[in-house]
Amino acid sequence: MEGTATKSALTAAQKAIVIKKIQEEYDTALGAGKVKVEEGSGGDLDIIINGGKAPGVNQGKEYGDAGVEGKPGVVHEGEFTADGFTGDELATSIGESAAHEAGHKLGLKHNEDSPPSKMTDGGKITTAQRKADSREFTPSDIETLKKSLGLASAEQKGGSMFADLGVYVGDPNGFLWKPDDTYLNASATFFSSSPNAQWGYITTAGDFVPEGGNGFSDAAMTFIYTAGVDLAVQDGPNLYRLELGQGNYVLTNPNPHNSSVFLVADAFLGGGLYHLHLDTTNPFNDPNYYSTGGFFAIPEPGSLVLLASGLVLILGARLRRR
Ligand SMILES: [Zn+2]
Repeated sequence: MEGTATKSALTAAQKAIVIKKIQEEYDTALGAGKVKVEEGSGGDLDIIINGGKAPGVNQGKEYGDAGVEGKPGVVHEGEFTADGFTGDELATSIGESAAHEAGHKLGLKHNEDSPPSKMTDGGKITTAQRKADSREFTPSDIETLKKSLGLASAEQKGGSMFADLGVYVGDPNGFLWKPDDTYLNASATFFSSSPNAQWGYITTAGDFVPEGGNGFSDAAMTFIYTAGVDLAVQDGPNLYRLELGQGNYVLTNPNPHNSSVFLVADAFLGGGLYHLHLDTTNPFNDPNYYSTGGFFAIPEPGSLVLLASGLVLILGARLRRR
């Protein structure tokens, strides 16, 4: 969904609070000055504060978005003001969402912490909690951030390559509260006889971003883009990637809310030495939660144009249901 940002109505004093808030979050996590937050464009990461609401079908449904790969994330001031945020609460809440979207671009996933932390699934955060201004990065987030800042990029890639696992983010539904952004969550179970093996994904820059290790049965993955994911396993010096033909995957459980995609993907890498089970059915055990998102098979190279039009059809169906 594309939109055009409009000028924010934040005062100079509110802008200063937004910037201070984001700066504080990263200073607390990483140490003072490791990340520099300032107004303007051309940083390693840009987050737009849009004066308006979320565009198109997303209007009223999210406070921000990670955008697309390699482009700015966005926070919608108009969504906050429409929900009654004003003054300092408006500025700090925008700052928290901006820090959250930047966190996604630095490889962070969602969690279901209670009370909520910085990357807690937005649908679990009450308006009062957003206004309370007390959500921070967790020790696990901080560990990931430190690793990410040593990479060329930790951002999930936006394109698709042959042999990638196709992910359609879809439309998460059933939350009590408006989320920060649109995403697809999956629970992950990793099976391997190797104690040091880690599963994760490969960025456009070719970096491996680890998501979980051996024996993690409750780990989760947040997919922020509709794209092909180059799932990978690192085991000591060895790296195995779907995109290089070093694995395959099996899709099961068609999504009852969108028959174009599947809820479960089982990926096998390294000749079957490593098995990753991804399940998007209900990763947060919320009785009201469902999503139209899921996994699909990336077709052979000659069919990539068809894939693009297939996704348009999925999106068309999504629009018609509203
Ligand atoms: Zn998020």
